[in-house]
Amino acid sequence: NRDLMKGKRGLIMGVANDKSIAWGIAQSCAAAGAEMAFTYQGDALKKRVIPLAEQLGSTLVLPCDVTDAASVDAVFAELEKTWGRLDFLVHAIAYSDKDQLRGRYVDTTYDNFAITMNVSCYSFTAVAQRAEKLMTEGGSMVTLTYYGAEKVMPHYNVMGVAKAALEASVRYLAMDLGPKNIRVNAISAGPIRTLAASGIGDFRYILKWNEYNSPLRRSVTLEDVGKTGMYLLSDLGSGVTGEVQHVDCGYHVVGMKAEDAPDI
Ligand code: NAD
Repeated sequence: NRDLMKGKRGLIMGVANDKSIAWGIAQSCAAAGAEMAFTYQGDALKKRVIPLAEQLGSTLVLPCDVTDAASVDAVFAELEKTWGRLDFLVHAIAYSDKDQLRGRYVDTTYDNFAITMNVSCYSFTAVAQRAEKLMTEGGSMVTLTYYGAEKVMPHYNVMGVAKAALEASVRYLAMDLGPKNIRVNAISAGPIRTLAASGIGDFRYILKWNEYNSPLRRSVTLEDVGKTGMYLLSDLGSGVTGEVQHVDCGYHVVGMKAEDAPDI
């Protein structure tokens, strides 16, 4: 439906390239008529994000490193000045030292634990604080999580701990912001080949395992996640908040290897 998000304005955080989950969600929202602003992390990504934003008719493309509070403030100050109001927000940001996304969780260092929690969990609360002030007519926020928050997944380690905290923060934010008709949800996406995923040890194996063992016997696409993002961010999701919505071809319901799964 081309008019479903007509007149809605949203901020998309976390596009690195055209494989990014944030980009999949942005495309679905654009197809539904939404207008968007984008942030990019550092100059290296600027030249990738600007042409993508332009494809969706957006000229509002701003730098933002979530470890720098001043840069987060600057983004919201610019949105307030240009739009005055915000309707939706996508947070698709995570980071951990890739050397600790393999091997044992027990070996995680304090420094990497702190930066992983800061970038992958706290930053969502930090942007929610600022977005709340601009969501004067209600709103919807979505962050991205993974099954490694719920169950031990190989190599996910400290990121699983950060995602568990992120999922808990979704519930607390939903309660705090609900009275203002601001909804807060997470999408728990199945594995997708992206820049961030390439840092996870043995990612190819995890992808194949999901493909062979999920009920739909395939892995999820950017489009799958994009469509669910659009549902949660638009009025289609009007009664949904505090939810962790799995978009994983059903993998999270499975308890054992599928009988027809080939060896990997
Ligand atoms: P991606 O590499 O395309 O996106 C990650 C983004 O995080 C990048 O745009 C990067 O610039 C941004 N980022 C990292 N540190 C930042 C910082 N300090 N400040 C601002 N931005 C920063 O990869 P993706 O897979 O699309 O990741 C998006 C989200 O989806 C992440 O939260 C990730 O954990 C989650 N997720 C990914 C998968 C998967 O298999 N790819 C599955 C489930 C959840």
